Amino acid sequence: MSDRRAELSAATAAVRSAARACRTVQQRLVRPETLEKKDKSPVTVADFASQAIVCAGLEAALPDDVIVGEEDSASLRESSQAMLLRAVVERVAEERGAADVDRVLAWIDRGNADASTDRYWTLDPIDGTKGFLRGEQYAIALALIENGEVVMGLLGCPNLPLGDDLGALFTAVRGEPTQMASLWDADAPSAPVAVAALERASQARFCESVESGHSDQSESARIAADLGIETDPFRIDSQCKYAAVARNDASIYLRLPTRVGYEEKIWDHAAGSIVVECAGGRVTDVDGKALDFTCGPTLKRNSGVVATCGSIHDEVIASVVKVRAAG
Ligand code: AMP
Ligand code: MG
Repeated sequence: MSDRRAELSAATAAVRSAARACRTVQQRLVRPETLEKKDKSPVTVADFASQAIVCAGLEAALPDDVIVGEEDSASLRESSQAMLLRAVVERVAEERGAADVDRVLAWIDRGNADASTDRYWTLDPIDGTKGFLRGEQYAIALALIENGEVVMGLLGCPNLPLGDDLGALFTAVRGEPTQMASLWDADAPSAPVAVAALERASQARFCESVESGHSDQSESARIAADLGIETDPFRIDSQCKYAAVARNDASIYLRLPTRVGYEEKIWDHAAGSIVVECAGGRVTDVDGKALDFTCGPTLKRNSGVVATCGSIHDEVIASVVKVRAAG
């Protein structure tokens, strides 16, 4: 038993609470209209509310802890955003009880620490905003980083199937097996998940972003062909891809750079990577290098991401390197 129970229980409660707020917002989306008007305000409300709720929960349980979150309150503070701000406060109040504007803004900004201390949480309040707007997959991703090592990660996946329901929570503590549980029922038991046991990559199903701007889908098709994979890619938004590898819905996650110079964000990978590793898988960049969480808010020493069930990792990396070199 590790000594991380207090941190895990605070983080679990915070992610569950944020997920409920996000679910409420997504259920109220009038999708066709939202997409036609390119109205991003629902996702903005949920993003800010989710960050405020997670930061409030961690503040109450772990008052000295610092958080590196994706959002800050600057744009919400503009007078033109008064309606948006009111909606954020409403969503937060549903989870936290009475919450006034100043407290909500302060909670959001608790998530603005810089990633230079030796111990901090990193939060993506809604990872996969495009999926959220389409009514599809997204995740609330929270991880604890100590001295450049991800030691705990949580993925709240409100729309991921779990049995006959939707909504799965993945929790990983370094040195222990990744657990999966209902995201909504805190009393339901959790169970360990494990990656696939494959001998050859040709047996694998691979997953990648729905968004072709986030991962090079034509390159992944060439890699799949090179590896002898005949099944179609499983395209799914957000760090649900890591969850998919962890619980053997897929065995490979390819995130192939679409442009030179893009630096992956730590909150897009910290939680997901430990969820896969503690389920028995491996996670590196496209060159086979370990993800380096010591460089602040981005993985600037890495390029892209490859996550696998582990046994086939070297074979997959060899193919990625070969296909990318061939251009
Ligand atoms: P996904 O849902 O896997 O497509 O990834 C969503 C994440 O992609 C967002 O949280 C963004 O931070 C990130 N992102 C934005 N632009 C890029 C890019 N050019 N390459 C890779 N990731 C990106
Ligand atoms: Mg993200």
